[in-house]
Amino acid sequence: MTSKSMDKIMALSKRRGFVYQASEIYGGINGFWDYGPLGAQLKKNLREAWWQDMVMNPCGGALGPSGEPVRIVPLDTCIIQHPKVWEASGHIAGFSDPMVDCRETKARYRADHLFVYAPQSGDRQGKPLFAYLPDSTSEQKQKKKAEKAFGEVVSVELVKVAKEEWASVLAPEAEKVGSLTEPRAFNLMFKTYIGATATEDDVAYLRPETAQGMFVQFKNVVDTTRVKVPFGIAQTGKAFRNEVTPRNFTFRSREFEQMEMEFFCHESEAPQWYAFWRDARMAWWKSLGLSGENLQLREHDKDELAHYAKNGAGTSDVEYRFPFTAPGFGELEGIAHRSNFDLRQHQTHSRTNLEYFDASRGELLPNGSHKGEKYLPHVIEPAAGLDRGVLAVLCEAFTEDASRPSPELMRIHPRLAPIKAAIFPLVNKEGMPETSEKLYLELFRRFGRAGFVEHDVKQAIGKRYARMDEAGCPYCFTVDGETASSQSVTVRDRDTGAQERLAIDRVSDWLSEKLGVV
Ligand code: ATP
Repeated sequence: MTSKSMDKIMALSKRRGFVYQASEIYGGINGFWDYGPLGAQLKKNLREAWWQDMVMNPCGGALGPSGEPVRIVPLDTCIIQHPKVWEASGHIAGFSDPMVDCRETKARYRADHLFVYAPQSGDRQGKPLFAYLPDSTSEQKQKKKAEKAFGEVVSVELVKVAKEEWASVLAPEAEKVGSLTEPRAFNLMFKTYIGATATEDDVAYLRPETAQGMFVQFKNVVDTTRVKVPFGIAQTGKAFRNEVTPRNFTFRSREFEQMEMEFFCHESEAPQWYAFWRDARMAWWKSLGLSGENLQLREHDKDELAHYAKNGAGTSDVEYRFPFTAPGFGELEGIAHRSNFDLRQHQTHSRTNLEYFDASRGELLPNGSHKGEKYLPHVIEPAAGLDRGVLAVLCEAFTEDASRPSPELMRIHPRLAPIKAAIFPLVNKEGMPETSEKLYLELFRRFGRAGFVEHDVKQAIGKRYARMDEAGCPYCFTVDGETASSQSVTVRDRDTGAQERLAIDRVSDWLSEKLGVV
């Protein structure tokens, strides 16, 4: 089980230019994060890997459940859509979290995130229930108080505490009991106004998910391209949610990026496609180095399913064990059979027929063709968070090893690493810098489109290795005293620290093979 320190991961992310607090010089803004040079490239590499493996060459060319190639087309839709889109999708009526405020400390919490310590015996003898937010300073403080009051304690979700008991709850960091308000619904969509008049008629929303843009353009895609069901529409882009309690670094942000795909199929084939995408998506995250005990696929229980997924093939989450969720897991991606809920809703609200005519189905006619069938396709949706993906990659990569030149290193998968290779002269003289510069240019020309290639001539070699270890650069090539006579350099593997010699004219092909970049 991981025991990595989130504080250390955040400190390294800042120090090395992976992630900065947004508007930091103004004191920051809660729930918003910027990516520094290394982080921006890491994020781009993850988005690119998704695009390659979902759109350009879905699942690496694997065939679908009945042996057919998997077809996905891309889309790029607006952040602001017609407000009716969000009425149809249910986001205006239902996209809200139960929220409680503490009248004393003025803190705001999601009711379903708070827990209380209660006596194991069940009898609190007029004493308070001690509320806390897991992974915050309140957890230990409240536990101490509760143990003093009750001896053996158990932890209970606040929402499971009977309403009449709420007056006896001592909120985190509060002095007096009963300061928590009743839970209230809080719509998570950011509101804005279109045009200059800014009246209530001009209200619009920043999209809380990228998915709806794809449902709304389903008919256009079918009518203007040659796609045939089953096929998918995919896009990546920003989404905005006015989260009640943004926290855990970038895990719960108010502005974030999603990578979503809507796969349209006939209802009868939905169970096979659901299983296909669930397994494919889990395999994809594994392929990027999030393997082992920190990754799990969790099938939702029946009572957890969204209303539109109740009668479907199911919903699964790919979950990662983040340091702040350990020993539990946090969602990275959800794969859901959404039935034909979204298309049906948009068909009703827009009064536009969104049915698909499937010429390959229906009764077989004497001429050998089918009569055809009209239907609203069902949808399997793998919906992933790009920022959560980057966070999982950073957490997985972070490694402490006191015996190394850098006691902290980032084991980022070579495909995602923002710096692909670094080239050093051992010393900045004796012809070494000229040779390393030549090798650098050769590698830069070939691999520069996949990520950074660095040439560094300054400082002791140990320090240069340490810098690259922290930045997650998988391979460092060093031109040394032997290079001139043997026409070879050393290559140092970031993960093992081991070095081997390689002929200088083989370096480029060697790296190509290691990075999977031609
Ligand atoms: P959660 O239960 O954690 O709020 P969700 O189930 O509401 O997430 P979805 O609506 O399924 O999330 O969105 C798909 C993906 O978008 C999630 O798996 C997650 O990776 C990402 N995501 C959702 N909300 C946020 C957020 N506030 N910050 C960062 N990523 C998010």
